[in-house]
Amino acid sequence: MKEYLKKLYNKEKNKYFKLLENDLKHKHKRFIITVNPETLMLSEKDNELKEILDSKEFSFVPDGIAVIKAARKVGISISERITGIDIAEYLLKLANKNKYSIYLYGAKEEVIESLISKIKKEYNNINIVGYSNGYVENKDKVMEEILKLKPDICMVALGIPHQEKIIYKYINKFKKGIFIGVGGSFDVLSGYKKRAPKIFIKLNIEWLYRIIKEPKRLKRFWNNNIKFLFKIK
Ligand code: UDP
Repeated sequence: MKEYLKKLYNKEKNKYFKLLENDLKHKHKRFIITVNPETLMLSEKDNELKEILDSKEFSFVPDGIAVIKAARKVGISISERITGIDIAEYLLKLANKNKYSIYLYGAKEEVIESLISKIKKEYNNINIVGYSNGYVENKDKVMEEILKLKPDICMVALGIPHQEKIIYKYINKFKKGIFIGVGGSFDVLSGYKKRAPKIFIKLNIEWLYRIIKEPKRLKRFWNNNIKFLFKIK
């Protein structure tokens, strides 16, 4: 586990964003994995996810205060959280500024459709090359389509670990592009769900807000975050 914590990007969010800006400018490829306790705990039972985390090529960011605290406990200093939704919002802004192309894959049909209309309204310079809801049976067909379209940015919102696994399966076939699994970000960006108020984010208790809003998350929280904390201890 310490090896995974060591790999996390440890500087400020703005510096990471500069790297993304540079990637897009020079058509580099990057697969971003947002690491939180769930990712780390699942990787203990899931060999494919472990293989992804073991990679030296991908870009791992600290998504979640628990991983930052855990890292600190073992002597690794990480500057701040970099969440999937922060990266998604930044990439949309950047794509709008520079007319980059984008493919969005994931979430329910009504969610993805309302996100697409929102992007068309609010970020009208973005070249949306395609989109798909996350409940189609044939995930490979969607990825084959994305391969043909060669977007500059591809966001996949299928939840951990499915989003990481499907990107991983295809990443070597792409020559350029930023790929990221963004979890529930489309639900929030589309307006279907609210992100926690700023004060929760500032105090690093966004997880608490999500549990209050969706109590069924409590079991998931226990199985991942609480068990993770015990493990680190
Ligand atoms: N999802 C999907 N296809 C599936 C299962 C989930 O597109 O087969 C979507 C779901 O609609 C949601 C996202 O994946 O938009 C996962 O959200 P969740 O809040 O669980 O992710 P988190 O942010 O907690 O990692």
